[in-house]
Amino acid sequence: MKINLFSWLNKSRALDLNALQWALPLFLSVTAILFELAEHLQEGESLDLGFDAEVIIFGFMGPLIIAIIIAWMREIMSAERKTAAQVHALNRELENKVAERTAALEQRNIELDRANRELQQLDEMKSEFVSLVSHELRAPLTNLNGGLELALQHADTLPAFARRTLETMVGESNRLTQLVQTILDISRLEAGKLDINLGPVALRPLMEHAAEVVLIPKNRAIEWKFTADLPPVWADEIHLEEIVRNLMRNAEKYSPPASTIYLCACQEGDHVRISVKDRGMGIPKESQQYIFERFGRVHSGESAPPGWGLGLYFARKLIQAQNGSIGVNSPIWEDAKSPGAEFFLLIPVATFSEE
Ligand code: ADP
Repeated sequence: MKINLFSWLNKSRALDLNALQWALPLFLSVTAILFELAEHLQEGESLDLGFDAEVIIFGFMGPLIIAIIIAWMREIMSAERKTAAQVHALNRELENKVAERTAALEQRNIELDRANRELQQLDEMKSEFVSLVSHELRAPLTNLNGGLELALQHADTLPAFARRTLETMVGESNRLTQLVQTILDISRLEAGKLDINLGPVALRPLMEHAAEVVLIPKNRAIEWKFTADLPPVWADEIHLEEIVRNLMRNAEKYSPPASTIYLCACQEGDHVRISVKDRGMGIPKESQQYIFERFGRVHSGESAPPGWGLGLYFARKLIQAQNGSIGVNSPIWEDAKSPGAEFFLLIPVATFSEE
């Protein structure tokens, strides 16, 4: 609308100037000649050279100069009009392009949205499938474990090699059960279906119980360190012990059997720091983030301790669900052969208001 009004004004001004270019000089010329004629005739002068000169100067040259000035102004205005028209055309072109690109982007957004929804559906189907399979595997595995344990209790009469085979089968079956349970827990956690019951948890009995289950049966030397007046933390007791057991199991698995494992819990500001240190093979700096990924393993191959690379992945998810965090330091000893590793958890202290 603005542009239309502007061009109309421009057009009417151009018409005015067109008329003015001829009308004004003509009017001035006629007026000047008549004036000079009247002046000279009134004063009784003859139409001599003075009269001619004045007519040429005032009657022709003056109006001519004015005509030239008006023509020059017309030129400027016409150039201005052309520029305005060009700007207007460019504007329209730009608007068209923006509209085109916006439409293309909207289309792309719709496609991305659709792809995203499909991926989410696939992910949900995958989680449901994994969850279903693990669930279905659990029952037969429990029966298998029970049967094997029973058979082992009555294996005194069996030859030594048969007994050893039975023991290996018990170990492997337990490992498989643990894997299935971990997969089930991970898929539940990822689907937001794992119950996390936060409350005040006393750490000392929790850690002692975890060590009794994981390290004492292996006759591991343990060095304890608890700071006095250790406050309770705000966590899920069962899941926290699961994480601590996992760290102890790793320390036991990835360090020489005769070496000591160091367990510590101390307050750091509004968190408690639990740490599990070993004198094992350590973890190279460049792999320290990778081991928290799904299936992230540093030590693999024939001679490596058995594992699936899921324990630390699950531990990180599980501690984050309790508002805590997990980290690793390695090397921790000045011993090139056994640089060792320290895994630590930071868990919020239970405050009075939470309780
Ligand atoms: P898994 O032990 O079943 O392979 P984890 O997720 O528990 O799976 O550990 C991932 C990897 O991190 C392990 O494969 C191992 O390479 C490395 N790792 C974990 N704990 C230790 C440790 N205490 N010392 C050295 N390496 C470790």
